[in-house]
Amino acid sequence: MNNALKHDALIIVGAGHAGGRAALTLREEGYTGRLILIGDEPHAPYERPPLSKGLLQGTADLAGCSLCDSTRLAELGIEHIAGNPVSRVEPQRHRLQLADGEWLPYAGLLLATGGRARRLPQEQANVLYLRTHDEALALRAALRPGTRLVVVGGGFIGLEVAATARGLGCAVTLLEAGPRLAGRVLPAVISHALLDLHRGQGVDVRLNVSLASIEADAVLLADGQRLACDLVVVGIGMQPNTELAAAAGLEVGQGIRVDAHLRTSVADIYAAGDVCEFRLAGQYQRQETWRNAEAQGRHAALTMLGRDVAFDAVPGFWSDQYDWGLQTVGVITPLTVSRVLPGAGLLLFYLDAEHRLQGACGWARGNSVAKDIKLCERLIITGRPLNEASLADPELSLKHMLRG
Ligand SMILES: Cc1cc2nc3c(=O)[nH]c(=O)nc-3n(C[C@H](O)[C@H](O)[C@H](O)COP(=O)(O)OP(=O)(O)OC[C@H]3O[C@@H](n4cnc5c(N)ncnc54)[C@H](O)[C@@H]3O)c2cc1C
Repeated sequence: MNNALKHDALIIVGAGHAGGRAALTLREEGYTGRLILIGDEPHAPYERPPLSKGLLQGTADLAGCSLCDSTRLAELGIEHIAGNPVSRVEPQRHRLQLADGEWLPYAGLLLATGGRARRLPQEQANVLYLRTHDEALALRAALRPGTRLVVVGGGFIGLEVAATARGLGCAVTLLEAGPRLAGRVLPAVISHALLDLHRGQGVDVRLNVSLASIEADAVLLADGQRLACDLVVVGIGMQPNTELAAAAGLEVGQGIRVDAHLRTSVADIYAAGDVCEFRLAGQYQRQETWRNAEAQGRHAALTMLGRDVAFDAVPGFWSDQYDWGLQTVGVITPLTVSRVLPGAGLLLFYLDAEHRLQGACGWARGNSVAKDIKLCERLIITGRPLNEASLADPELSLKHMLRG
């Protein structure tokens, strides 16, 4: 941080998960200066995973998703500016402008602007998206028993919405353009398990289909089929909010590009969370996961405080659908070993050429894979070569392997 600017604030743009976590960490780590957290949503920072699960089911509310409420922010002396997006950053003058015109000088600036749901070109009243709390509430109000819902997109958001909507008594058709569900991030065997699960729960899943158009009461497919429906939810991915950074002259690829310390290409500006493009397993990539927002939010705060540690957290994510849970940790490699779990669950291990664990993916009823995935994370960190036959044997405990 520039010494001449020490009297100015640390500012975080984006009051989502990564931004909220960064603000909390700065205080936990002893930063006592002015700290401003700026968001464009009207809410204090909250976590998004419940939006497609508990909040959509009606079993959770905003307070249940909260990372930190307004009272706590005030107690910690974190100035939260809500519903007033940053419209411009001027790195040379170390200042930014809010949508209402006000300029704020900064000493250090964290961009944690996340992303928004990728939208179809035309806006229509019967087409809904899911990224924010308010979008989740609108969707929840529209999902009633008997609602005929078409979900466009067989990624995690689409699949979780389909599962929740079935639980609410909706008739659900799910359209996926590719040959398998969540094919971009999941191995084929898990995609197939997801397909069986959803079809078994009564979802009409259609693969390899393309959308021609959406009418007020139907979806038209490219092959001429007409699917009558009351509502369409589009889950076709996330668009990172990089415009602010690009306009300020920061290097931007698929996200705001950072070095190993989460520093952008411009001095005193950092990035974290869904919007951040960083090197993982030798390649620039973004991670759109809770775990990444949590870890990078925290790490960016430490870097802003001058701690010189590279970011090397093990990636991972989870998804809950019906009463099944999916969890992953680490990265996928070509060498895979499978372990069949009781009750038709599955644990996949990804090894490198020296048989060291690089990643794992678990699929089982309830939350039962969580323990195995935690042990896999420890095995990844240990870096000890593992025996393929032992990994495949459900009788051999991972805890035992960890002990060596
Ligand atoms: C419905 C849903 C379900 C999910 N479920 C899971 C799950 O089960 N497991 C999992 O691992 N991950 C899940 N995720 C992903 C996880 O929630 C995200 O990776 C995480 O929220 C990213 O946090 P973030 O802070 O980077 O971005 P965000 O949470 O998007 O926060 C960024 C904030 O910045 C604001 N902003 C943008 N531009 C500006 C500006 N110019 N000025 C001010 N504010 C701005 C945005 O509006 C937003 O409020 C889910 C996501 C969604 C949407």
